[in-house]
Amino acid sequence: MATTIPDIALNDGNTIPQLGFGVYQISPADTADSVRTALDVGYRHIDTAEMYGNEAEVGHGVRAAGLAREDVYITSKLNNGAHRPEDARAAFQATLDALRGDYIDLFLIHWPLPTRYDGDFVATWKVLEEFQQDGRARSIGVSNFQVPHLDRLAAEAEVVPAVNQIEAHPYFVNDEVREYGVKHGIVTQAWSPIAQGAVLGDPTVADLADQVARTPAQVVLRWHVQRGDVIFPKSTTPKRIEENLRIFDFELDDAAMERLTQLDRGESGRQGPHPDSFDYLPG
Ligand code: NAD
Repeated sequence: MATTIPDIALNDGNTIPQLGFGVYQISPADTADSVRTALDVGYRHIDTAEMYGNEAEVGHGVRAAGLAREDVYITSKLNNGAHRPEDARAAFQATLDALRGDYIDLFLIHWPLPTRYDGDFVATWKVLEEFQQDGRARSIGVSNFQVPHLDRLAAEAEVVPAVNQIEAHPYFVNDEVREYGVKHGIVTQAWSPIAQGAVLGDPTVADLADQVARTPAQVVLRWHVQRGDVIFPKSTTPKRIEENLRIFDFELDDAAMERLTQLDRGESGRQGPHPDSFDYLPG
């Protein structure tokens, strides 16, 4: 069985490593070390965002690991305060400057903010299309987009997002949005893949972990992999960073997959905000 991280094909001809390392809520002071630890044990994909305030430190971590820029897949995201086209152009350049690079592998609209900017995320998306056209963003995508938001892009824009990064884990399987992605060639990235730890104490997860002699985190991350989603669990603990990578040398059978999927609590399982109402703007 393969023990390496698979690449997933995107609709624009590029590929993305299915497992990465997320740096949300890692303080800037800890980010470079954590990124370096992840790269040292074999991760080759980092997920950051302007909102996380640690893009520059992600760049430091990559350089400290002694890896060339093209050997690491880096994603960042447009901050909520920068949706107007001129602001988006400036924010994107600030991301490239922070990472000290002239391109990024994947750039996303972080949140649709349908109650802000007169509900116009299409104008913002068209600016991301510019970044892809001029080669500074190899791929472009969205995050936290619901089905009506994706339908609107399909009707009013040229490029279909390569990915949609959404909350998904066994307590909130989010299958309606995932299925839209499958139908339209949009890869799902599952954020908070272990529900920020909330699913790890679940008795079903513990039982399955016993059955396959793995940890609860490995079982849940493996479930995502077999569903075909891209994931980037976050940890600052070296042992856990490595544990989360060791998920490509075992398999869950159909019954185990189904038991995890059945843990779904629908809307009440969400850990994060609802994309239809989330309207946070940085101060
Ligand atoms: P997560 O589901 O990755 O959980 C992280 C928490 O679980 C941490 O507290 C960590 O200490 C703990 N943990 C990690 N590995 C563990 C292990 N093996 N055993 C026990 N505990 C473990 O949550 P997350 O950080 O919210 O999500 C992952 C990434 O997704 C983020 O870092 C970020 O890159 C991305 N994200 C994106 C959005 C978005 O709006 N696009 C929102 C949230 C997160």
